[in-house]
Amino acid sequence: MHSSDPHLFQHWMGSLPHATGVVAVATLLGLAGGPCLAQTQSQSEFANCLARLQPVAQRSGVRPDSYSRFTKDVQADFAILDKLNYQPEFKLPIWDYLSGLVDDERIADGKAGLARHADVLQRIQATYGVDPATVVAVWGVESNYGRITGKYPLVQALGTLSCFGRRQSYFQGEFYAALRILQRGDIAPDRLNGSWAGAFGHTQFMPATYERLAVDFDGDGRRDLVDNSDDALASTANFLSKGGWRSGLPWGVEVRLPNGFDTGLAGRTNKRTLGDWAASGLTLADGRPLSTSGLTASERVGLLMLAGPHGPAFLTTRNFDVIYGYNAAESYGLAIAHLSDRLRGGSMFAMPWPTDDPGLSRAERRELQTLLVARGHDIGEIDGILGDKSRVALRQEQSRLGQPVNGRGGQKMLQALRAEGEGQRPDNR
Ligand code: CA
Repeated sequence: MHSSDPHLFQHWMGSLPHATGVVAVATLLGLAGGPCLAQTQSQSEFANCLARLQPVAQRSGVRPDSYSRFTKDVQADFAILDKLNYQPEFKLPIWDYLSGLVDDERIADGKAGLARHADVLQRIQATYGVDPATVVAVWGVESNYGRITGKYPLVQALGTLSCFGRRQSYFQGEFYAALRILQRGDIAPDRLNGSWAGAFGHTQFMPATYERLAVDFDGDGRRDLVDNSDDALASTANFLSKGGWRSGLPWGVEVRLPNGFDTGLAGRTNKRTLGDWAASGLTLADGRPLSTSGLTASERVGLLMLAGPHGPAFLTTRNFDVIYGYNAAESYGLAIAHLSDRLRGGSMFAMPWPTDDPGLSRAERRELQTLLVARGHDIGEIDGILGDKSRVALRQEQSRLGQPVNGRGGQKMLQALRAEGEGQRPDNR
């Protein structure tokens, strides 16, 4: 997960086991700030740990000279352990999640990317069988088309996570993979930066995923997912292809449920044939029969409903499951699937989300943050990400305006603050 795009990895983070005592101690040390005896001991603990891991790294192919070269002078970053242990008190509704990931900006940027990279995307499709809009949609969601790839030096981040906190053995495997990438010279040490959890580059691959699936598509001898978008886009297509992507198969279609539908049949992995679903009374969202969807009657599809029976519903194919495999979250899969449709000129879902307070685009979030700052709140950087500081400010404004106090930034709060106008804002807060 990198600093400015918190959706990344939030899903697998949720499945991590509980914290150990080691993390609790390190977290306290991190909060203490500034060097102290305990902190020094922890850095020496880190040095001891790195020394202990060296022979293990060597057995996985990291030469001793490489190990000492790439790990010397590396200090543990204890702030990363706070991120590992962070438990959001606020669960993002699916409509907020999607309104930030699939907004006008990202659609326009994606269309520009499709045009700019048309040639290479065509060659990628010929090689891996994955269409340009899907590849570009993954790129847009993973790193905002290469703009946000993370700032954490990977050796430091993965070294820290290898020695402290939960899941050390998992991160050790990624740590050794990162060192092997540097040893091979595919990516320069000062360019191997990414999320605090170790995902890096345009496609936000973890190092071990990189080793399995990254490709050198421009033929310069290096698999460079950080500074070469050709390699990155092709690697994304290779990931999807190796995951079982079927060329030409849509990810799915939006559908309409009949009255009295048995929602017990729902579930992405609860596959039935399109014909079975038609027999259960489902139609396309516009009421046409499923047989006009472009999918064959024998196609096995699951019914995805992320907001219950009164929200949008979709029949999803195995290609949706392949997208899901990129980050193991259905909301994430739907963001990429929907963005790909929008890049092809498709429209919004026919069925609105079941809420009277829809979510905000990133432009609207920046506007909301600007309105909060104008009212004297410290919300940090105006970045279109409604983090903890923005939510504290929103709670205060909701309380002042007599709205439900939940810290959520939706259309209602934006409109309420807009309506007050500049002249009526409360001063001296
Ligand atoms: Ca290359």
